[in-house]
Amino acid sequence: MKDYHTHKAASHGGYLCAVTRADWARVAAEAAETAGTAGEMIPCFGVHPWHAHEADAAELAFELDEWLSRYPQACVGESGLDASPAHAGTLEAQRLLLHIHLGAAFRHERMVQLHGVQAWGELLELLRERERCGTLPQVLLHAWNGPHELAREFLKLGVIFSVGLRELSHSKAAERYARIPENRLFPETDDHPEHWGRTLALLRLLRGNLV
Ligand SMILES: [Zn+2]
Repeated sequence: MKDYHTHKAASHGGYLCAVTRADWARVAAEAAETAGTAGEMIPCFGVHPWHAHEADAAELAFELDEWLSRYPQACVGESGLDASPAHAGTLEAQRLLLHIHLGAAFRHERMVQLHGVQAWGELLELLRERERCGTLPQVLLHAWNGPHELAREFLKLGVIFSVGLRELSHSKAAERYARIPENRLFPETDDHPEHWGRTLALLRLLRGNLV
């Protein structure tokens, strides 16, 4: 089992996500070191919504295209929308970058990893629109914490989810996650590789595999 969303290379392997543009070279180098091993990391290039306002959108669009062409195994991320009070002021910049990430992921046929805070509804509308236009890439929603009714709508769009220790420890975890098909819900550690073992154990428990 891979770690579906992490920012730190770890021996269990998984998707290694960049946070800023300055991160890309490190992510590529760390992933290259693990190539062909059991702990293989897949590099993901993107700019986290918290840093969206610091990026030059036109330059980013160009560079993302270039890096995805250079790294055919790479994915796109982290991107997304964060409408919490601390980040709502940069939503316009976040939206612009999100479209750049989604467009690049679609053109290069890569998965894109999205962060959503107080923005699942807007993300759903946006992905539905892309579905209607036939330009929807494979999407992973990381740290998914929405209700099952909303998960069902995202599932119709082919979306997959990842959850970590924080999400799986929530009192509503069973209600939120137990009905998501096994092949659409995956473990993540985000910034905490040390949570891997406990995350897997909780996910198994949720699925009723008490091993
Ligand atoms: Zn993250």
